[in-house]
Amino acid sequence: MFDTKILKPSDENIDLCATLINQGEIVGMPTETVYGLAANAYDEKAVKKVFAAKGRPADNPLIVHIAEIDMLSELALEVPESARLLAEKFWGGPLTMVLPKSGKIPLITSGGLDTVGIRMPSHDIARSFIKACGVPIAAPSANISGRPSPTTARHVFDDMNGKIPAILDGSECTVGVESTVICFENEGVRILRPGGITKDDLLMVVDNVILDKGILSEVDITEKAASPGMKYKHYSPKTRVILVNGSLDNFLKYVSDNSDDETFLMCFDNDKDKIPAGLNCVFYGSSSKEQAKNLFLILRKLDELGAKKVYARVPSAEGVGLAVYNRILRAASFDVVEVGE
Ligand code: AMP
Ligand code: MG
Repeated sequence: MFDTKILKPSDENIDLCATLINQGEIVGMPTETVYGLAANAYDEKAVKKVFAAKGRPADNPLIVHIAEIDMLSELALEVPESARLLAEKFWGGPLTMVLPKSGKIPLITSGGLDTVGIRMPSHDIARSFIKACGVPIAAPSANISGRPSPTTARHVFDDMNGKIPAILDGSECTVGVESTVICFENEGVRILRPGGITKDDLLMVVDNVILDKGILSEVDITEKAASPGMKYKHYSPKTRVILVNGSLDNFLKYVSDNSDDETFLMCFDNDKDKIPAGLNCVFYGSSSKEQAKNLFLILRKLDELGAKKVYARVPSAEGVGLAVYNRILRAASFDVVEVGE
């Protein structure tokens, strides 16, 4: 058991956390997407601790984080020209590229695959920390597997208290959902998981971008998924989430017929004026960008409020909205009620 400390991101504390990493420990790390649980990507024992602390299935690979583009060629066996162009355009930023891995990445880090997901974050503290570590950092989201991802140091503490020595506090994550994960195919690029970098963003650099079918549909646990993370229960608060798709009027009619005292509504900020007084309601933003930033925070808040059931408005699936929709669909275990426009 550790006495888990939340540390201000001073130079000394960044160095302290880097020392812990070099001693084979794991620590909480801020990034612009969500908080990560960081380990030396080359250290099998440390990576094992990450899987154990999260309760993460062994076949769900970890993303490896780097501080400079140059490190790419140390981790990947081949780097297609389009990957180089995408790195130049979108790194540091919320884009993970799956590439054939070099012999330096242990199998445990890549979940037994011969590929590795690589990302260079934009977050200053993340970059300084990775640089101070001097090794690439394997870091999945720092939540207990299946729970909503953490977007504050406090969320990491709530899930990892006692399991890790330290969490670097880098304030609230600005993107709020995990990175866009892509792989390369003959025809172009396939999005395995939507995130802050959108299909239109990618189309500025490559000619052809396709969306994997696992983004909007359930992936069978026995299937060999392109993105193994997609087949597991994900992003779920304790409260049961039900998506209610339709106009606000029909949404309100439906929930008034199907609610009790412990039911909550999860609506958009621009619904505020039309929600009748006296209802338990939380709001998760108006634009897709705001919704991405707030989604996990609000899902965790619902648990704190003791909500047993929440009816959520369905977000737009355009642009960054696709990432929000992908996450909330899974948080709701694909439970969607259609009420009409
Ligand atoms: P997390 O670290 O919790 O954000 O999850 C990482 C996600 O990236 C998982 O859903 C993985 O399936 C995906 N991922 C990481 N590495 C690979 C890889 N080599 N091939 C396919 N997907 C990957
Ligand atoms: Mg995760």
